[in-house]
Amino acid sequence: MKKTLKDIDVRGKKVLVRVDYNVPLDANLKITNDKRIAATLPTIQYLLDENAAIILMAHLGRPKGKNVPELSLEPVPARLSGLLGKSVKFVGGDCIDRQSKKAAADLKSGEILLLENLRFHPEEEGKNASGEKDKAAMDGFAKELASMGEVFVQDAFGTMHRSHASTAGIVKYVKDAAAGFLVEKELKFLGEALENPARPFLAILGGAKVSDKINVIENLLNKVDAIIIGGAMAYTFLKSQGVNTGTSLVEDDKLGLAAELLKKSKEKKVDFLLPVDHIITDKADFANKRVPCDAVVETTGGASISEKFMGVDIGPKSIKKFSEAVKSAKTIVWNGPLGVFEIDEFSKGTVEIAKLAAEATDKGAISVVGGGDSVAAVKKAGVDKRISHISTGGGASLEFLEGKELPGITALPDKK
Ligand code: AMP
Repeated sequence: MKKTLKDIDVRGKKVLVRVDYNVPLDANLKITNDKRIAATLPTIQYLLDENAAIILMAHLGRPKGKNVPELSLEPVPARLSGLLGKSVKFVGGDCIDRQSKKAAADLKSGEILLLENLRFHPEEEGKNASGEKDKAAMDGFAKELASMGEVFVQDAFGTMHRSHASTAGIVKYVKDAAAGFLVEKELKFLGEALENPARPFLAILGGAKVSDKINVIENLLNKVDAIIIGGAMAYTFLKSQGVNTGTSLVEDDKLGLAAELLKKSKEKKVDFLLPVDHIITDKADFANKRVPCDAVVETTGGASISEKFMGVDIGPKSIKKFSEAVKSAKTIVWNGPLGVFEIDEFSKGTVEIAKLAAEATDKGAISVVGGGDSVAAVKKAGVDKRISHISTGGGASLEFLEGKELPGITALPDKK
């Protein structure tokens, strides 16, 4: 167990907090979604209550070690300030330059300072000024950041799978460190689901590609009682069993692997549920999220898809089949939509299963949804508030489900 915020003394201290403010911006550099900022409020509020001086560190986008003005964190302080009802200082420029260091040194108890984008420095991502991997450069940068505060709080779950200066590097240069409330919540839900799940434990995996989720499936096959596969991923599995998949998105180079995973699931006695019917179309304008007016949209009678048609959602028989597993599950982990849910006509499978997952949760199951698209899908179904935990880190939660160590978590000290 890692130390969490309440395990360390932050009272009246200068506290460095790594947060995930990698928010989407429009062409006018306006924040279009502030959920990542809102997610950090509990930790910040607790630190304010403890009379700490708070130095926030974050990154935005991929500036690749250069000062890219459009990727400045400048739009963030006003939004954070609005959500918090308290002013937030920002000096911009460079996160470890004279002005930033002075602002940090002058910061008083109960005040908040946000440093400029950490990734303007190549050292944040473990590189030197020439762009080469350089651990010493990363450590040097981590030390500079650490020198601005006394203790460190890690609350940027979305970057925990990266070994960066502000994730893995900084911890050894501060007096004490701990996971913030957001990271603590992620570890509690994802960790408990994998280590100590109430059973039956069901995984629902969807999305575009099998290749993205092979390691997740392999790891989960050792843990779950049942696994539902939907989305385009399902067609690679179906084709590997000789089922016709028409023009559906299939990864032909993964057919052998899909067959192997199906075999493994039998050996491990995991119920591996694939769609038994589909919504199909001969044309879809995925880019514009539209179905052209001359497109033919049909429901298949069975698992087979005729030539010239592609599967875009699970059909009604599949919804029925999957619903039994969802209703009886006591732990549900979901990553990836079950169809092209962005197009309303093809969102029914995802929406119906999301509603069932919410109903199961109402009756006591623990449900954890991760990955940007799955979160959007659960919102589209209007049930996001009824899911036990919505993970904030797409890549990080996938790596967690793969059973990989997350460097940002590993670096944190253990509870005594
Ligand atoms: P991922 O990022 O791997 O979770 O994939 C999410 C994307 O998969 C979404 O944009 C979905 O539209 C897409 N997707 C889901 N089902 C299908 C399908 N049957 N055919 C094509 N794309 C799909």
